[in-house]
Amino acid sequence: MYVMRKIDRLLKSINSFIKEEEEEITELVPEFPGLEKVPGYIEGYEKKVAKLLRTQRKYYIDGINAFVAKDVTLDTLLEHIIGELFKSDGFVADMEEETKVYLAMNISELTSVIMEAIDEDVAFEVLSVRTTKWIEDWAHDLSLLMQLNTHRAIEDAFMIAIENGDGIEKAVMTIKDLPQFDRARARTTAITEILAACSRSQWEAYQQSPAVVGKTWRHSGSKKNNPRPAHVKLNNTTIPVDDKFDVNGHEADYPRDPSLPGSERIKCHCVLSPEVDERILGLTKEEKEKIRQEALEQLK
Ligand SMILES: [Zn+2]
Repeated sequence: MYVMRKIDRLLKSINSFIKEEEEEITELVPEFPGLEKVPGYIEGYEKKVAKLLRTQRKYYIDGINAFVAKDVTLDTLLEHIIGELFKSDGFVADMEEETKVYLAMNISELTSVIMEAIDEDVAFEVLSVRTTKWIEDWAHDLSLLMQLNTHRAIEDAFMIAIENGDGIEKAVMTIKDLPQFDRARARTTAITEILAACSRSQWEAYQQSPAVVGKTWRHSGSKKNNPRPAHVKLNNTTIPVDDKFDVNGHEADYPRDPSLPGSERIKCHCVLSPEVDERILGLTKEEKEKIRQEALEQLK
């Protein structure tokens, strides 16, 4: 009985912790259509990424243990890791697949909600070729970047262990505890990439909505965040949908655009809002549909 109560209490506190985190995200990001879907997306993607990172950690620990049985030095072990284990690491392929599926689903759903909020006459049907291609490219690049970062961390940890003259057991423990395999990394990745997917959905919806003539950058405010001066400065800046924002010297279509360095993406909670031309909104449904088809043609 006592154990059950303890587990109950534990589960309750975990649930309330997750709930607080969710509330925090919707609180941190300025309101936009579809925002209520975001915490669920983040949670789902975080779980998938966390699982892939755990699998990757196990792959290295198992691979190292199998090799260590042959009684080797740290130098030959590192050679084996770089020469063999890095090459057969399956993380990129798995991460790319999960990310592709997840982004395509979330971006379609969000684009649909955003388009409906702009103009009920022009309902979402398909993603543009450009955004479909973007999802594929970014899913690959993101997975590759994450893997490179992990490989570098493993290599660095071993170099330090060799320098310190550590034993193999200690070096393996360091690999096990690398933050690259942590839940926290899955969480940060999920928040950044799902919020990037939100921006991409806004951009896609504006491209496909004939009445949208501009996009406005909205900064999240400084609540529980260290605001970046460049992002604060961009607040309320409106430019044509096809133009790029200048974010601290870097070009971006929207907040957290993968064209930006990590320092301008991670923990950024800025969003876009649409500039709508009322005259276009008043055109007939057929006229607006024709404009949408032309836009989709342009985005091939
Ligand atoms: Zn920002």
